[in-house]
Amino acid sequence: MTAKIIDGKSIAQEVRAEWKLRADALKARGITPGLAVIIVGEDAASKVYVANKVKACADLGLHSVHIALPADTSEAALLTKIAELNADPKIHGLLVQLPVPKHIDSSKVLDAISPDKDVDGFHPLNVGALATGNMRFAPCTPFGALTLLQKSGVSIEGKHAVVIGRSNIVGKPMALLLLQHNATVTICTSKTSDLAKHTRDADILVVATGKPKMITGDMIKPGAAVIDVGINRMENGKLCGDIDYDSVKEVAGWITPVPGGVGPMTITMLVANTIQSAERAAC
Ligand code: NDP
Repeated sequence: MTAKIIDGKSIAQEVRAEWKLRADALKARGITPGLAVIIVGEDAASKVYVANKVKACADLGLHSVHIALPADTSEAALLTKIAELNADPKIHGLLVQLPVPKHIDSSKVLDAISPDKDVDGFHPLNVGALATGNMRFAPCTPFGALTLLQKSGVSIEGKHAVVIGRSNIVGKPMALLLLQHNATVTICTSKTSDLAKHTRDADILVVATGKPKMITGDMIKPGAAVIDVGINRMENGKLCGDIDYDSVKEVAGWITPVPGGVGPMTITMLVANTIQSAERAAC
């Protein structure tokens, strides 16, 4: 079997076009959805992510504000900036790019963002809302991975979904989203014994470990949908995921490539969350 490739770039375009219609409807009512992104310091990768987020908003005609603060910005100054943006009616989505410098407590930062504007879905209230089945903002990467499955026609209800990884930004919310869509969910971690026993039983396998190519074709159930969240830079400078693409694609039914799978969906869902937030504010 050769897997169907889930084309994240083209699905991201399709999803952005759908959300652009909703943004245009708001703009016709005089409301332009607005996203503010704060970055503290000079982390090169973070700068690229932030530039891409701002560009995605501009492409859809959204209002976007990019606030670059020096690395020695105090925690108090950052919290004041967040409070200002929380109160700004032109801003519907607000995020602080992580990681922040070590002298700033990232949990205080996440707590300070208004839950109504928390488009990353990291505020404890929004985490709780997702856990209790009353989702307001789903974290963008797992929301994007779920959307890839849905747009590819992969059936989720009643299926066994295995998520490898339990981070707050990917693994845990991914598992909760799949549970909400009536999958039977198993979460595996670095402490799981006999990982392959679990992966071979997965109809849907989502891998988010940050360990290059750790999942190989012999660990896959024939016909499974395999979503690779990992982004790893190899010695030759190329990107690879957490699955061994060449061997897994011979066994799986669906597969996401890296790059071009989950990656393009993350920013797309950020834009979607911002537009949804503006819709709520307009009610
Ligand atoms: P974390 O390092 O926070 O979490 C990794 C998780 O993987 C942990 O729960 C860890 O288990 C588990 N793990 C590590 N090794 C193994 C193993 N050998 N077997 C089973 N489980 C293992 O990473 P993130 O969740 O933040 O990111 C994961 C990957 O996704 C990274 O490659 C990252 O770059 C990528 N990513 C991609 C995004 C995108 O937009 N496409 C966005 C965010 C992340 P334990 O808890 O026991 O340590």
